Amino acid sequence: MERALIKIHGIVQGVGFRPYIHRLVREYGLNGNIKNTSSGVELELDGEKSDLERLVAEIPRRAPGLSVIESIEPQYGLPCAGFESFEIIKSKKEAFRNTLISPDICICDDCLRELMTPGDRRYHYPFINCTNCGPRFTIIKDVPYDRVKTSMCSFPMCPECDAEYHDIENRRYHAQPNACPACGPAAFFLDADGTRQAEGDEAVSLAKGLLKAGKILAVKGLGGIHLACRVDDSAIAEQLRRRKERDEKPFAVMCRDVTCAGKYCEITPEEEAVLTGSRRPIVLLRKKHGMEAKLLHLSENRYLGVMLPYTPLHYLLFGETFDALVMTSANLSDTPILHRNSEAVEKLRGIADGFLLHDREIQTRCDDSLCMVLDGGEYFFRRSRGYVPYPIRFSDREQFPPVLACGAEQKASFCLTKGTNAFLCQHIGDLKNFETYEHYREQIRHFQRLFDIEPHAVARDLHPDYLSSEYAREISEQAQIPLFLVQHHHAHLASCMADNRLDGDVIGLIWDGTGLGTDGTIWGGECLTGGYEGFLRFGSIKPVRLIGGDRAAEELDRVAFALLRETGADVSTWENAGLYEGMITSGLNCPLSSGMGRLFDGAAAILDIKHIASYEGQGAVLLEAAADEMETGLLPFELVSEKNILLFDWRKTVAALAEYKGHGIPTGQLAARFINTLIRMAVMQCEAAREATGLSRVVLSGGCFQNRYLLQRLPEQLRKCGFTVYHHKRVSCNDEGLSLGQAVIALHQLGKGKNVFGSST
Ligand code: ZN
Ligand code: ZN
Ligand code: FE
Repeated sequence: MERALIKIHGIVQGVGFRPYIHRLVREYGLNGNIKNTSSGVELELDGEKSDLERLVAEIPRRAPGLSVIESIEPQYGLPCAGFESFEIIKSKKEAFRNTLISPDICICDDCLRELMTPGDRRYHYPFINCTNCGPRFTIIKDVPYDRVKTSMCSFPMCPECDAEYHDIENRRYHAQPNACPACGPAAFFLDADGTRQAEGDEAVSLAKGLLKAGKILAVKGLGGIHLACRVDDSAIAEQLRRRKERDEKPFAVMCRDVTCAGKYCEITPEEEAVLTGSRRPIVLLRKKHGMEAKLLHLSENRYLGVMLPYTPLHYLLFGETFDALVMTSANLSDTPILHRNSEAVEKLRGIADGFLLHDREIQTRCDDSLCMVLDGGEYFFRRSRGYVPYPIRFSDREQFPPVLACGAEQKASFCLTKGTNAFLCQHIGDLKNFETYEHYREQIRHFQRLFDIEPHAVARDLHPDYLSSEYAREISEQAQIPLFLVQHHHAHLASCMADNRLDGDVIGLIWDGTGLGTDGTIWGGECLTGGYEGFLRFGSIKPVRLIGGDRAAEELDRVAFALLRETGADVSTWENAGLYEGMITSGLNCPLSSGMGRLFDGAAAILDIKHIASYEGQGAVLLEAAADEMETGLLPFELVSEKNILLFDWRKTVAALAEYKGHGIPTGQLAARFINTLIRMAVMQCEAAREATGLSRVVLSGGCFQNRYLLQRLPEQLRKCGFTVYHHKRVSCNDEGLSLGQAVIALHQLGKGKNVFGSST
């Protein structure tokens, strides 16, 4: 007989891991104990060495569905402790925290069954959960994960719940958010003035009645409050749009189940798997043929963002009453999603006609995730609820020092690393909004505390005026740690590399709207070569003057004007032609940009698809929506070498676009030819880069790769030419995924000359 001490790291708290171990240990007839520590769980057992070894080998095989085991470190041969039973002992706080926290998980099938079973003591109880499901990240204040460190601390368990909590045979054994109608949180309904009208089932029926009557309901979810209304009446959705000042941005829809979703959209088996999985992101699904026009008031493009209910309250609200409801984050003009009851009532006055809220506090805001399904998995536009804060392991090597990367600005993000794990934040928003910047700063502190990270270096974007850059400077000065400046598109390249765990050098096609280049101009149509250590600007696109700077991203005719003017076309009859001409010739507020996003905008305006953008990237979204998928034709273009950079000269392309448009060639064909041309151009740039460097791996990153038309055709063309193509898999291709790249580049900068990368294998 001997004793073994087994340390297990990963997501092993709050996911039924200790009960699982308890059952396993009992099968082996062993004694000992298990406890949560700040670094995972620790198991101590007396037994014969062979039994202990077999048990350790068995642990990962039958581990609970929500657990993720990162490592098991057994230590054998310790003196026997003489344990007489097996015990789960109280958490002890360790100095070194390394616990992974589970994301929030949708209600499980067992709980859903109980929720809908009359006579069950949790029948219609909106806060039913168990170790396999329920809130986690959004209710946790601190680690170790125990009830007292969550929003549930104000709800002591009743004797029945307490008995379940301590019963090893029970599904709720050690489920921290365990609750019932007798002891747990309650849902209630408030009218438009914030006056409490009802609780429980009655609150839910009042909310249903409101929705049925065509009104707007505020409903509290896991990571924030949503605004909901009926989908079948465009006037109602329009009213929500007006009240929320949401202009033309698509609304997400929550469908009762996958069958209901199938009434509106095409769903592939892969999409169904993501849709019905435990993380419940919003999945962009193709609208069903014949449904496009009927869904136009929800989304102006070919796709509809659909999610399934994920909280018990959602299920109760849907019942058999609704097939689908608009479900959009309750926030105003880019402020963070509302999450507190009092602030919801105050700020949604005149917007919501009623409130379905509850008294379980949301500790941490977390917006819905948004993705499409690509190659069988999630391809994120926004990685947030259900995924955050699960880390991204970015390397197989060990021993990296911790760093903080501060992201960009408009789609803000940060990333904290620890070892080979990168913790990326949830959706944050645009830092130029004061509350959003506050939220960003607060979340950095929260993540540092949760994962016990004291960064040894900070990384920021090259752009000096981003608020994230300001924050980085502040932290670097306060903590006296090095500050690394990372070029925006280099960070995108590194992000996609780290996402795919690549080393060495690659070719990167990095297409986005805006990012400051090393030459002081705006970049964004880049073909880079390089890796974490550095990069070369191998190719790009001929820059265009942005008349009025940022205004050109909204008034797309300004881009079209600047593009067509370069082709020698007569633009003197355009509205504001004199003003624009004057600004260009005097160089007044007309920065040069090689951003691919602006080319899309310009093409959208020339093709009369969109002239005023009401949200970022709308020109590109609508150009994609217009593109005729059968069209394979191209437009003329040239690749020219200027100062050793292979530039896409678009003059012939835009001239042809305008000319063919004038000849009456259908817009859909021209939109497709335009994107086909970019694809052809990109393949040629990559071929030239391969010729020059021998590299044949291509990474795709930047916000333009949210374009499905592009994303389906470009990799195919590249593969045909012998390239290996990598797209993002675990983080967003847009600036929300950028901080991962910044972090990894900073780690390599930090490692120069110092042996911080561990063994040099
Ligand atoms: Zn459950
Ligand atoms: Zn109870
Ligand atoms: Fe970007």
